Amino acid sequence: MKSAVGYCRVSSKKQEDEGFSIPSQIKLLNDYAKKNNIRLIKIFTESETAKKAGRKAFNEMLIFIKENNLNTILVEKTDRLYRNFKDYVTLDEYDLEIHLIKEGTVLSKNSKSHDKFIHGIKVLIAKNYIDNLSEEVKKGIREKILQGYYPSKAPVGYINVKNSEGKNIIIPDKEKAPFVQRLFELYATGAYSVEEIKNKLYNEGFNHKGKPYSKTRLLFVLKDIFYVGKFTYRGVIHDGKHEPIIDIELFNRVQKMFNQSKARTHDVEFAYSGLITCGYCGCQLTAELKKGRYIYYHCTGKRGGECKKDYIREEKLDEVFLELIDKLPNPEDGLFEEIKKAVIEMRKIKSNYEEISMEGIQKQITRLQNRLDNLYTDKLDGRITQEFWQEKHNQWHDEKDRLIEKMKSISSTSRTFDEGTNLLENFCKFARSEFLKANGKKKRAILKMLGSNFIYKDKKVSIELTSVFNYLINNDFVKYGGTDEARTRDLLRDRQTL
Ligand SMILES: [Zn+2]
Repeated sequence: MKSAVGYCRVSSKKQEDEGFSIPSQIKLLNDYAKKNNIRLIKIFTESETAKKAGRKAFNEMLIFIKENNLNTILVEKTDRLYRNFKDYVTLDEYDLEIHLIKEGTVLSKNSKSHDKFIHGIKVLIAKNYIDNLSEEVKKGIREKILQGYYPSKAPVGYINVKNSEGKNIIIPDKEKAPFVQRLFELYATGAYSVEEIKNKLYNEGFNHKGKPYSKTRLLFVLKDIFYVGKFTYRGVIHDGKHEPIIDIELFNRVQKMFNQSKARTHDVEFAYSGLITCGYCGCQLTAELKKGRYIYYHCTGKRGGECKKDYIREEKLDEVFLELIDKLPNPEDGLFEEIKKAVIEMRKIKSNYEEISMEGIQKQITRLQNRLDNLYTDKLDGRITQEFWQEKHNQWHDEKDRLIEKMKSISSTSRTFDEGTNLLENFCKFARSEFLKANGKKKRAILKMLGSNFIYKDKKVSIELTSVFNYLINNDFVKYGGTDEARTRDLLRDRQTL
């Protein structure tokens, strides 16, 4: 006889009134166990009707399962068990057999069912969200540690003046600030090189004593955190008193572009420039127009070494990528509808998560701000020493910055999530037709959504697929453990040679 635990949960008073009460769930579980010859050892119940929501029983259950070497959970239906993204990932790691009684489904590692496939997609979506969030937070903190300096001399776009109290302050330079803004905007389009922008702005009247600003100078400006209203002093980032002239989103976009591609802008008209790396030397493939009509890609071999420098036609690459897109699930297939449903379900979880965490973070920020205000008063009143003030001030400021960063990370992860899930919903449907009529830029965009790390070697192209697409295309249960091995697949192994 198989042993199992049960899990019951109500999340609101309304649910309870609507007959989803704990006792009715317990009865359902017991009846099911009896019918299926399962020994129900313990039932964990959770009521979240109380204001202070936690998942005490859920966590206890996980401990109990481990201690007693169990692997089966009975539950009324999916949303009783999975409340947030983390639950999908956590439970996936436990390798369980989950009976969703009302849905008539058993999810387990060994089942080959359709339901398991959809469940796998949900787990991947959840895992992706969590990974992206932590990546965003790390990136955000890294970005903050970027450039910036103590505002002694105002950077271009600002001027030093004295205020009415005779204090030195920094204010936007009415004449030059618009040029700085334009610099960021032009650069963010990705359509101009710094050299081009330099000349463009110079012609528009942006100059230093009659001369154009150097490229180095412009690059420095583009990386300077000062423009978003911050500065760094002795390794600590402070909120500046000066007015930001670049909005943080634009600034981050520009930083991202620095990190991402060092692809040359004049290559933009070729679809795959800057996308594919040579498997021998790590250089990017460049495009070349031959006889005025054939586009070839080849490695420049600039890094030397054992590089073959052979050519591949753009049409061949098109073919190879279309072949890959063709492996996505067919929209006519019922599976497609199921995927859409899963996406909608995961979106609800996301909104819920966002709402709760934003609220929590906002509260913490307010608390820190109050503490900082009190600290300042204490300092003014001489109740604390300068050293103590400095220490606490830095500490709480950092903490506050971290929280603000976290909020930003949540909203940018949210955007990535929406883009990703929209894509999942629409991609399989339209990818082929869109790809066929796309211009170079769009083709590249489509491919970048599918995966990354495109490598050309020995006449073959390989790509590291996004976990969800990897799952869809390979269609077997690849357990996504976040390892490169699991994600990397030499998918286009069998393609024809030129
Ligand atoms: Zn090479």
